[in-house]
Amino acid sequence: MTRTSRTLLLTALATVAALAAPAAAAEKVNLLLIDGQNGHDWKATTPVIKDLLEKTGRFAVEVLTSPPKGAPKEDWEKFKPDFSKYAVVLSNYQGQAWPADVVQAFEKYVADGGGFVAYHFAVASFPEWGAYCKMIGMGWRDNKAGDNIALNDKGEIVRTPKGEGLRASHGPAHPFDVMTRDKEHPVTKGLPEKWAHVKDELYHAQRGPCENMHILTTAWDDPAQKGTGLHEPMCWTVSFGKGRVFVTLLGHDVPATADPGAAVLLARGAEWAATGAVTIPVPADLGAAKPAAK
Ligand code: ZN
Repeated sequence: MTRTSRTLLLTALATVAALAAPAAAAEKVNLLLIDGQNGHDWKATTPVIKDLLEKTGRFAVEVLTSPPKGAPKEDWEKFKPDFSKYAVVLSNYQGQAWPADVVQAFEKYVADGGGFVAYHFAVASFPEWGAYCKMIGMGWRDNKAGDNIALNDKGEIVRTPKGEGLRASHGPAHPFDVMTRDKEHPVTKGLPEKWAHVKDELYHAQRGPCENMHILTTAWDDPAQKGTGLHEPMCWTVSFGKGRVFVTLLGHDVPATADPGAAVLLARGAEWAATGAVTIPVPADLGAAKPAAK
């Protein structure tokens, strides 16, 4: 081996080693968290979300708070998120429509490969925005707004067509089990088959185009809790153009958002939406302290 070829070989090996470096050494994922209006207590949940993401060591989180409801036009003119600076956008926003240029920029951002995470009541936002409805697959809407999909006891998809059945709702908040439906997807790989989630709202009959959706976790909606008797999707993905979207319905309040299963799903979902891969570990004791019902 000549000196030159040996140098080339060493350089090649160093490159391979660099590519194989653990993700912890990788650059942080820039995440933009948008809040500012919500029928929920966003002022309480945003710091919890920011904290749980930052604790993974994987994210650099920036929060952008929109003007409040009824704010003058001049305030909205200053609401100009530069989506291109972020690998993923997380919405804790439910409220009035964004200005047309922001809507356009966001659609382009996701279609061109940007990541998006819709958290809990963010699925109730923007019923009139067709592309947003496609991005989230289904959301908190009237039954005329689109189909619903859920799973039956055999794990088969049950589709309720637009105009038929319930509108999006939930029974009284209660503790329930969350079940992993795809053990190979990067977001859910390594999660227990089932674990107990704290008291939360179990959304059912979400409505939308339900296109390009992939269900990752479900929860059985007990008729004794005014539920549908179906296994309602709790987390899913949607592909929108080149963009990856992760939706989680878990997390009505601070305890439900910070509960270990919901928290790790939110963080892993955000990492996947940003990069297509997941390095954030599943807590070893998830499901051990409070085992799910058999
Ligand atoms: Zn809620």
